[in-house]
Amino acid sequence: MSKRLKILLAASEGQPFSKTGGLADVMGALPIALYEKGHDVRTILPKYQCVTDCKKKIDPLDIEFNIPIGVKTHTVRLSKSTLAEKVPVYLVENDFFFNRDGIYGTQGTDYPDNADRFIFFCRAILESCKALSFYPDIIHLNDWHTGLVPVYLKLEYAQDENFKSIRTIFSIHNLAYQGNYDAETMNLTGLPDSLFSQDGLEFYNQFSFMKGGLVYADLLTTMSPTYSKEIMTSELGCGMEGLLKLREQDLTGILNGVDYEEWNPETDSKVITNYSSKNIKGKLECKRDLMKTFSLTVPESTPIIGMVTRLSEQKGIDLIMEALDEIINFGAAFVLLGTGNPDYEKFFQSAQQKYPGKCGVRFEFDETLSHKVIAGSDIFMVPSRYEPCGLTQMYALRYGTIPLVRAVGGLHDTVKEYQPKSGKGSGFKFNGYEKEALIETVRKALTLYQTKSAWKKLIKNAFAEDFGWPVTADKYLQIYRKVI
Ligand code: ADP
Repeated sequence: MSKRLKILLAASEGQPFSKTGGLADVMGALPIALYEKGHDVRTILPKYQCVTDCKKKIDPLDIEFNIPIGVKTHTVRLSKSTLAEKVPVYLVENDFFFNRDGIYGTQGTDYPDNADRFIFFCRAILESCKALSFYPDIIHLNDWHTGLVPVYLKLEYAQDENFKSIRTIFSIHNLAYQGNYDAETMNLTGLPDSLFSQDGLEFYNQFSFMKGGLVYADLLTTMSPTYSKEIMTSELGCGMEGLLKLREQDLTGILNGVDYEEWNPETDSKVITNYSSKNIKGKLECKRDLMKTFSLTVPESTPIIGMVTRLSEQKGIDLIMEALDEIINFGAAFVLLGTGNPDYEKFFQSAQQKYPGKCGVRFEFDETLSHKVIAGSDIFMVPSRYEPCGLTQMYALRYGTIPLVRAVGGLHDTVKEYQPKSGKGSGFKFNGYEKEALIETVRKALTLYQTKSAWKKLIKNAFAEDFGWPVTADKYLQIYRKVI
């Protein structure tokens, strides 16, 4: 029998405690999937205000310790909750850094002390191991906020017997967010100045958290096989492509899984009626409910194209803005749930006025609405510029909602182009980042929508796709064992 591993997963956000994007979904589900495989799995997160508000039972632990940040010292208090009543979740509490109404910032602006906050968190992760006497085999780190952990581990804890055999995995959820700050930030870390060099933490004269992970972690992963290749190119490497190329042998792309407990049309309590691949009638009820919720007045035979997304450049919003008139003129209705860039919001606000009853938008972060859009739409659009994995297209597939995506990163790996001749495939894809390519593909999808039998087949194929976490967890376990 293979060894039971001790695994600590760390990130800046995790469901159901805190969420701004897909990272939180991963942190809410992967630990449980690893636990189900028989391992001692625990997670650690910052305790933001939203964590206190999330209605989970949280027990204070009688553990307190100090962390130096520059010349100051800050106190950590640890408390504990669980994922699915099974996996311990340690929460790093410090009111000064974390008891705020945002996670990374407020009203679209990052907090000015995010470097301090996440240096603090990185140090707190390792000190928590000590305070809890929990010395894992693997610390699995996620994104730049945790990028300094491998650095501290290799420098400050190198002589500590308890820490010596710990191995680190660093997962890149989005390479574009790197945590790069002024060179002076080095002073806050307590790390030697000599680390501020090209093969250390320096990135074009800045201090980079991300480089900490990329240079010092034992192995690297990213969120899909295609994205793992893309980030080694100058187009999507965000300046890190050279370093990633050097570490190519240590870098693996592992597709995210979907939490099918949360995203299951048969049991989903956030949608108006449940349905399944075998009895799809309820999907029409969900469509009616979506139309009501977004004040759409088109006939219910009208195909609805839905989106749930951050309104950021990455997500291809400008393509939609260019193509929206034509999409509506083709006879589709459009629904968007998203938050982010105020200019984008302004555009969609006026689009809603321009096309009353045909275009519905909501600028909120709302879990229930996201389920309603995914269940009630006929087509789900993800035209990203780049996409490390993307989760919503996989949710859409599970709800028999047909994804229409740009063929990049995880979108390319999870959506199979529909082949009318063989009847195979689960959605539609386009390549070039151009309005014409998007419009052509929308036209193709809407044409097929008119052929009921073909569309039914497509829905059946979508339902048949399986991106469950057990498979993904096995892939991570392979990586963990490789590094041990
Ligand atoms: P990213 O992490 O780049 O934002 P992903 O597709 O990996 O993209 O994950 C996005 C997650 O955030 C999904 O679970 C999606 O449903 C959710 N989401 C995005 N915008 C909203 C919103 N406005 N309301 C509710 N959920 C949202």
